[in-house]
Amino acid sequence: MTKLIAGNWKMNGSLAANTALLHALSEGLTEKPPCDIAVCVPAVYIAQIQLLKSTVAPLTAVEIGAQDVSAQSGGAFTGEVSARMLHELGCRYVIVGHSERRQYHGETDALVAEKAKAALGAGITPIVCVGETLAEREAGHTQEVVKRQLAAVVHANGHCISEIVVAYEPVWAIGTGKTASPEEAQAVHAVLRAQLKAATDQFLRIKVLYGGSMNAANAATLLAQPDIDGGLIGGASLKATDFLTIIAAARI
Ligand code: PEP
Repeated sequence: MTKLIAGNWKMNGSLAANTALLHALSEGLTEKPPCDIAVCVPAVYIAQIQLLKSTVAPLTAVEIGAQDVSAQSGGAFTGEVSARMLHELGCRYVIVGHSERRQYHGETDALVAEKAKAALGAGITPIVCVGETLAEREAGHTQEVVKRQLAAVVHANGHCISEIVVAYEPVWAIGTGKTASPEEAQAVHAVLRAQLKAATDQFLRIKVLYGGSMNAANAATLLAQPDIDGGLIGGASLKATDFLTIIAAARI
């Protein structure tokens, strides 16, 4: 399966910094990159990235993603952005259920499932994040937590489930410099793959990414694991050389 390397810029960037980053990326990208590539950017910058894509040739291969979407289709929801709006601006992906949204915005499994449904309904691929906290891991609850989080999305989305991307992101590894070992990550990915297999006979279409301090130095060993189909990259996606190294490591 072609791997997917998706950057999550989080709440970083500026018009000038985005232009510089994408120009630096374009210089290292060939016409046919070794994997699928996306950058998930703050919603206010989607139009800028779309414009850059249309003017800087090697960026054609870089898909645009958003970092959140409303579960609602439209109306009196001040501050929200709908999936249709993201689609209209050219978004191919949207992250749903990132641990920072679960933690700081109180997003529940049910809301994340509705957001995934809204994205799928508008023709956008949701990148569904699941992952355990340090306390949950230490209590031996990792599998139970990630299975519960994924089950909510599976149940709400029926046969469309084969259209999602899953990202396993142990919360204790996000932005901390601590990475799950390739073996730890692979073990959880195998559990998620088995759960997807039980949900749909199309399970082999579903990419399961690893996220959590993936960087230029550790990407190759993580991406070599049989059930790791790519990466969701935070900090290292803001440095063109690091992001390009990770992209190169995703060659299959
Ligand atoms: C993320 O934000 O999804 C992430 C994985 O961040 P980092 O790579 O910085 O740990």
